[in-house]
Amino acid sequence: MLIEQIWTANAYRNFHYLVACAETGEALAVDPLDWQRCLCVAKARGWQIRQILNTHEHRDHTGGNARLVEATQAKVLAHAQAAARIGGVDRGLVEGDIIRIGRTVELRCLDTPGHTMTHICALAEAEVPALFCGDTLFNAGAGNCYNGGKPELLYATFAHRLAQLPDATRVYPGHEYLARNLEFTLDREPGNAAAAALLLAARNQDPAAPIVTTLYDEKQINAFLRTAEPAIIARLRERCPRLGAAPDACAVFLALRELRNSW
Ligand SMILES: [Zn+2]
Ligand SMILES: [Zn+2]
Repeated sequence: MLIEQIWTANAYRNFHYLVACAETGEALAVDPLDWQRCLCVAKARGWQIRQILNTHEHRDHTGGNARLVEATQAKVLAHAQAAARIGGVDRGLVEGDIIRIGRTVELRCLDTPGHTMTHICALAEAEVPALFCGDTLFNAGAGNCYNGGKPELLYATFAHRLAQLPDATRVYPGHEYLARNLEFTLDREPGNAAAAALLLAARNQDPAAPIVTTLYDEKQINAFLRTAEPAIIARLRERCPRLGAAPDACAVFLALRELRNSW
């Protein structure tokens, strides 16, 4: 499996991805808003884009579909329940579906509501697993729920789906927010040495050659995956006394999500 992470340098700070089969050169484009950039990278690598995957229905993920289809005749794949809103979807995806790319690559679809109610994450169960997680999990952060989402479901997705994947899984989100998210983690947990160390690197990173975290890393640096951490709970209680001394993980997650909305 070949993965090309494409930095768009646009105002939304989108990342796109090309996932290709090393044997056939067939590729799938993830959320290719900047379709021309995707096409350029594919050409440079000698790959043919045969499929487009939209992780969810937001325009900053789907807005490049029509032009990329025009250029490549690629098939469009998206959550079955999002297909009508996106338009032009050739294959509606449900939990457990397999997306095949060429002869050697398979992505498994995870139904991951929260950011929106119709969000798919795609997991490559390769030797080094990879997760294309759209606006659900960000490096060191979590998607918001302003535009059609539900924080309770985002919690369930984090705790019961994503956190259960192998620690070695590499995390490929839909946007570059690493430094900002680490600042939030450190605001909640000032003694988090792993987050502080990564923040230095994140501030100096070239987004065109981005830092890739694993789920193991995320469990160290992402407040939304550290809901049992006593330091996080103690500091949250200063702002939300109603949390109590031993809040459940969902209550902590919801308080973090709410705080992040205005942070
Ligand atoms: Zn979104
Ligand atoms: Zn987005």
